[in-house]
Amino acid sequence: MTERLYYHDSFLYEFDAEVLDLVSASTSNPRAAVILDRTAFYPTSGGQVFDTGWILPAGTGDVSKRLRVAEVTESADGQILHVLESAGSIQKGSRIHGLIDIDRRRDHMQQHSGQHILSAAFVRLFNLPTVSFHMGLDSCSIDLDTKNLTIAQVEAAEALANDVVMENRAVAIRFVTREEAGKLGLRKLPPVEREQLRLIDVHDFDLTACGGTHVSATGQIGCILLRKTEKTRQGWRVEFVCGKRAVATVRRDYAVLAESAGLLSSHIWDIPQQVRKVQEETRASRKSREQLLEEVADLYASRLLAETVESGKRKIVVRMFPDRDLTFIKLLAQRLTRQSPAVVALLGITSEQPALVFAQSSGQPFDMGVLIKEVLARLGGRGGGSKDMAQGGLAQVAGMEAALAEVAARLNQ
Ligand SMILES: [Zn+2]
Repeated sequence: MTERLYYHDSFLYEFDAEVLDLVSASTSNPRAAVILDRTAFYPTSGGQVFDTGWILPAGTGDVSKRLRVAEVTESADGQILHVLESAGSIQKGSRIHGLIDIDRRRDHMQQHSGQHILSAAFVRLFNLPTVSFHMGLDSCSIDLDTKNLTIAQVEAAEALANDVVMENRAVAIRFVTREEAGKLGLRKLPPVEREQLRLIDVHDFDLTACGGTHVSATGQIGCILLRKTEKTRQGWRVEFVCGKRAVATVRRDYAVLAESAGLLSSHIWDIPQQVRKVQEETRASRKSREQLLEEVADLYASRLLAETVESGKRKIVVRMFPDRDLTFIKLLAQRLTRQSPAVVALLGITSEQPALVFAQSSGQPFDMGVLIKEVLARLGGRGGGSKDMAQGGLAQVAGMEAALAEVAARLNQ
């Protein structure tokens, strides 16, 4: 079994070890994985994601020979697998020097220790236990076992957690038997039966069993920032970021806010008010546009009816529009057939999305649905409708004018 050096020292960033075996990473991943007699690399477990880094043949000191440790996993039987980008000249029995990616490790320590304090804060203040922890690429989250969670609770837990950070309390690693652990009042006992438990002790604030890498004093966490909360099937999820991740997140948020404020020519704090104003203006202008279009359609209909000569007790209006949309010609067809009790309108749009609208005044003898289907079948398109009103879209404009003229001639007979 590999000795887990990170159990005793989260700040051990370099170590020497012997290669016990060289295997493939998994059945689905043929990449080489190294098993060592001891390691400072943390494998993904308990919500915390793996370390990355490098290993190089011991004694060379030649960084060009270093091999990238791309992932570290723990197999079902408890072996720690250091998955390499390429195996290089590493062989079973050889000695290596391991180097942990320090920035990544520090980030993980900030997130994970921050999580312990945050979870403890929710228990202390509101008796809300954490049921799971997830460390993501951008943010982390805990799932709380509760039906309700208010913004006031979130802010109170954040404030208490940050107080604990600023107090710079010592964070110690302790090993106890399961029996001893039972008497210590841990926040969380692991379900697995182990002889010895590893505890993370945030002085006078939180004591919990955990295998992760942690800071040695809470001040190293920097800060804890709570973000989105959302209801899940079993409770509430709270997103958070700690330390440098929090600074990076806020920096990105600020850039977005500053850009938005620039677009609105306002201060970032006035963005919601400005957006509401823009929304109201948009609604008002949409409404006035609709009103104007109806008026235009009314006037247009009157003009078309005045221009069209009656033939056989009715007027047949045929018109093509290069710059109108379907909504408008439907509106126009509606106005035409309402303004006159004996009109048939055959309207088309010849823009990028060609379309047809056929309509007749109520009581006229034709069937617009049937007529439009005939035309669409001939020109290529889809659509349909009722006896008095039908519409359809065409693939192309070619042939539209001739088809409408042909339908009009037929209705005139
Ligand atoms: Zn933990």
